[in-house]
Amino acid sequence: MSGYTPGEQPQDDGFVKLNTNENPYPPSPRVAEAVAAALPRLNKYPDPTAGAFRRTAAEVLGLDPNWILCGNGSDDVLTIVTRALVGPGEAVRYPYPTYILYRTLAQLQGARFEEVLFQSDWTLPTDFAAEAEGVKLVYLANPNSPSGTMIAPDDVLRLAERLPCPLLVDEAYADFADTNCLHLPQQCDRIMVSRTLSKSYALAGLRFGFLVARPELIEQFVKVKDSYNCDGLSIAAAAAALADQAWLAEHRAKLRATRARLTVALRDLGFVTVESQANFTWNTHPTEPARPIYEELKRQRILVRYMDYPRWGDGLRITVGTDAEIDCLIDRLRKIV
Ligand SMILES: *Cc1c(COP(=O)(O)O)cnc(C)c1O
Repeated sequence: MSGYTPGEQPQDDGFVKLNTNENPYPPSPRVAEAVAAALPRLNKYPDPTAGAFRRTAAEVLGLDPNWILCGNGSDDVLTIVTRALVGPGEAVRYPYPTYILYRTLAQLQGARFEEVLFQSDWTLPTDFAAEAEGVKLVYLANPNSPSGTMIAPDDVLRLAERLPCPLLVDEAYADFADTNCLHLPQQCDRIMVSRTLSKSYALAGLRFGFLVARPELIEQFVKVKDSYNCDGLSIAAAAAALADQAWLAEHRAKLRATRARLTVALRDLGFVTVESQANFTWNTHPTEPARPIYEELKRQRILVRYMDYPRWGDGLRITVGTDAEIDCLIDRLRKIV
């Protein structure tokens, strides 16, 4: 197997970094306070079920704590669910192109992966729910990466009812969208929803994510996770971040406004920019190839993500940064294309 390759993470600060969908703003100041308060307890093991976070999340999101499983980033949650549900010789399914990690998770299990092409408008083909031998799990990034498009919650519900297996809705970008599927697990026992604090809460460096699913499922998932998969500092910090909903509302509004500006500016430069529900946009250009644009921007110390999907095509995924970062990007692009 080739292994998952994350976006570039230069460790020097000289880049305008628009390649891995990080939040350009620092997290809620309550995070630092919570970390400081948790420091004296570092000699003790953390709560293996991250109860403090689950109670806060339950209250803020209108859920029951028994429906929540925490992970070391939502990648950990995706790994736990895959490990629990998919065995060697079995299969997973997901639309394509999407988050590349799903393929790696299947390969780690010795499982097959069915990549079903999105239609040209980024909707799912009708046979996406077809019966197939051995399919044990379906992933749906919603909003999707790299497109930023969404399948409406009603359609997700109908899809799950037709599927032969559980559906994991990966809501890494849901806080930037108009709607979400967070409460669908209560309506349909095949649906699970994962969330991360990496993007909307500006905590990519902390590593915290969670799953919403029926308690009978969570009980089984707990058996396959590392006992202490979330550390004491991240549990405290993540709970504090989630409790600060005013911070989220303010930064969500800011990023959605910048997203609208970025979309207009890219289209003015001739790009075909997909309408996004996430904190990035997917861009192709009718005459200018994507890779040289990426390379020229990198020479000028602006990083965007060049994506090349075999059997499908390539393009640029551009993260919504601050207004100043986006102005800088657009200014450089004007000279390149
Ligand atoms: C960023 C991302 C994740 C992973 O988030 P972490 O919580 O940082 O592991 C999961 N799914 C998708 C689609 C993402 O883009």
